[in-house]
Amino acid sequence: LPYSQSMRLGKKRLARERTSGELALIEQIRSRAKRTQAAGLLLGIGDDCALLRPRPSEALAVTTDLSIAGRHFLLEGHPPEVVGNRTLVRGLSDLAAMGARPLAAFLSLGLPAELVRAQGRERAWVDRFLDGLLTLAESYGVSLAGGDLAESPLATADIIAIGTVAPSRALLRSGAKAGDNLYVTGQLGGSAAGLEALMKLVGRRRGKLSIPLRRHPAIATHFNPQPRVAQGLWLGRHGASAAMDLSDGLSTDLTHLCAESGVAAEVEAARLPLHPAATLAQALHGGEDYELLFTAPAKARMPRTIAGVAVTRIGRIVRRQRGKSPVMLIGDNGSQTLEPGGWQHFA
Ligand SMILES: [Mg+2]
Repeated sequence: LPYSQSMRLGKKRLARERTSGELALIEQIRSRAKRTQAAGLLLGIGDDCALLRPRPSEALAVTTDLSIAGRHFLLEGHPPEVVGNRTLVRGLSDLAAMGARPLAAFLSLGLPAELVRAQGRERAWVDRFLDGLLTLAESYGVSLAGGDLAESPLATADIIAIGTVAPSRALLRSGAKAGDNLYVTGQLGGSAAGLEALMKLVGRRRGKLSIPLRRHPAIATHFNPQPRVAQGLWLGRHGASAAMDLSDGLSTDLTHLCAESGVAAEVEAARLPLHPAATLAQALHGGEDYELLFTAPAKARMPRTIAGVAVTRIGRIVRRQRGKSPVMLIGDNGSQTLEPGGWQHFA
């Protein structure tokens, strides 16, 4: 049932059904989404479709990301606000990696009934999920403009994120050239280190899980990744040659970028900006850092920070050689191939 259903019901019937779980939730989402009204959104939740209007010179950038309990989040480990926040971060990070400005998001939820109901004094899981999602949406000027709801034995949240970008400024994966420098924003491995620390706490827990974030800065990083929207917009205006976001891990994502560009890459291990809690393996293969991986011609001067986030040169793009692995890791003891070691579904 789309949220828009509530619009088509008569007022009387709506009042009668408002107490039923689904319609009550739709109404709640609709009224809470009002605080997220982006410019470019002509019509949000309430009709059969939302209406979006990009500027005449802009294209729409569209991405979709599926989050499933037990795969992308743990009901017993991730607070609902964190699941809501991270669900939207995944979409906004893809927009950032295209150099796009976020406009609207569409959320489809499949939830077991107990996650929609308040439990005694505690608010329903879905209410807290929306707290996290809408807080992030508001801070990035994104409208929650529609979606769908269904009861499901498995909790799933699918986000569609839509942004706008002038086509000439879109950051593609296919633009890297031999001789370009290779960069990342922020720090690497923090999310993987945080997930590992979280799993230990979940395993040791007796009763209610409490997570002392001050004692576990990596868990805080894992819980609250930042989509690099301002950095992506800057890179689109300042001549980055290729970009993508680090969602599956540097080794896996860089292999994708090299394949799309038809090039190879050399990464200098000593240059990698490790999160203080992360190992080198977590920085190379741990996913969900949501930093930007990008390339720029050697003559382009990159600042040390973009919008307050560090930029680090981690290596360079080289010509692809037949039969050779596309990504090499250069360390103290020479170079070795860096195989994709990040997350792969169906592997
Ligand atoms: Mg991506």
